Amino acid sequence: MKEKIIFQKSQKGRFTDYVTNPQISIFPPSHFIPQKLLREDLNLPSLGEGEVVRHYTNLSRLNYCVDTNFYPLGSCTMKYNPKVNEDLANLEEFLHIHPYQKEEDIQGTLELLYNLEKLLCEITGMERFSFQPSAGAHGELTGMLIVKAFHSLKREKRFKVIIPDSSHGTNPATASMCGYQVVVVESTKEGLVDIDKLRKLMDSSTAGIMLTCPNTLGIFEEKILDIREIVHRQGGLLYYDGANFNALLGITKPSLMGFDIVHLNLHKTFSTPHGSGGPGAGAVGVRKDLVPFLPVPLVDKKNDYYYLNYDLKHSIGKVRSFYGNFPVLVKTYAYLLRLGKEGLVRVAHNSVLNANYIREKLRDNYQLASSKRCMHEVVFSCKDKKEEYGVTALDLAKRLLDYGIHPPTMYFPLVVKEALMIEPTETESKETLDYFIEVMKRIDQEAKTKPSVLKDAPHTTFTKRVDEVSAARNPVLKWEEYGE
Ligand SMILES: *Cc1c(COP(=O)(O)O)cnc(C)c1O
Repeated sequence: MKEKIIFQKSQKGRFTDYVTNPQISIFPPSHFIPQKLLREDLNLPSLGEGEVVRHYTNLSRLNYCVDTNFYPLGSCTMKYNPKVNEDLANLEEFLHIHPYQKEEDIQGTLELLYNLEKLLCEITGMERFSFQPSAGAHGELTGMLIVKAFHSLKREKRFKVIIPDSSHGTNPATASMCGYQVVVVESTKEGLVDIDKLRKLMDSSTAGIMLTCPNTLGIFEEKILDIREIVHRQGGLLYYDGANFNALLGITKPSLMGFDIVHLNLHKTFSTPHGSGGPGAGAVGVRKDLVPFLPVPLVDKKNDYYYLNYDLKHSIGKVRSFYGNFPVLVKTYAYLLRLGKEGLVRVAHNSVLNANYIREKLRDNYQLASSKRCMHEVVFSCKDKKEEYGVTALDLAKRLLDYGIHPPTMYFPLVVKEALMIEPTETESKETLDYFIEVMKRIDQEAKTKPSVLKDAPHTTFTKRVDEVSAARNPVLKWEEYGE
């Protein structure tokens, strides 16, 4: 069945009068809009209220979300986010402030920013944070502009940035946006940075390295202190992509691993629902001597009075308007206060436990990408299944839809052939994980016995398998009345 769009459901004359007819409507458009600006003819769909409510309610049910089902999308941390945080972000007092309001009128708001910054400094070991960046990639851009400003101030000509071949795509994109040449360091077969290769690549023309730890295979970089040594000795900086920080919360800090600049995705790790491009916050923290480079303003305190400090000597300037995505910051603060230190450690333990539970239960059915124990996510490869039965990671992911499960991240990291990257997150119960494991085992059987079921999947969803090339090349994004 194909759901009609609301214009197609429209019946001429039914209830449009309610809006447009001045005799019926208490506030017809002419009440607000000068007569000469009113259109003669406006093609609004006309339906009864009941039909409108059903239409949108049914559409909303076509959405897949964390609030309805399991969403093990790797490197995305699609976890359950407590609803109370939304209530707090929506408090009247926060909703109705204006960014141009005077400092003395928004002392409570500034206090929240000040306190949140202290907590993130404690968690990461950084000296100060900027909340301006609106996403992870935006945080990376901010961080790498700081790297650039730092080296320029010392009049050092550094034009390369080292990035592991397993990195998230935003890392090389950021480095090249900042004008750097990207130098890729290969991974070992365990998926870790190859130290010998790094040693050969790192020189005094290299600005630094961008790293994710645990990396995108979900593995902790065991030689991180050697990496620090190699990069710092040549005067480079270590940038920490902390988009998915669950595994290490309260356990260790990027500063202890030798990182100089950090970004955290507050919308992944710190409880803001995300997807479809926002809203996000890619908070950026730096070590002490890099503080003067941060975007302005920072929130400071003098005699119990909070103020916006624009006085940063080498600031890279603003990277967006005002102070960042404030509601995301409120949610982060609420989340941290509610969990406390013990709670954060529990987050880390459970995120790692859940991923390893899946790893152990499925390792006989699916090929592991690394023999190392994983952290918050586990990566399998369907390469052998493709060779033996002709089913790909994509077929498998589509089949999961039939069982009501969102597919994991596929074909990433790029170093793993036919990759399936699974991040269960700390908020899933054992029962949910067991269901997922059972389904994955069943699909493994199907791949062996009736691969066509996978090839043609999904079978039970509203939309069947789409032609992905046409969908990307030939998107139909709006209803064309005359195109019908
Ligand atoms: C999600 C993610 C990013 C980018 O974050 P956005 O908010 O989507 O820009 C960067 N690095 C890693 C490892 C990520 O998982």
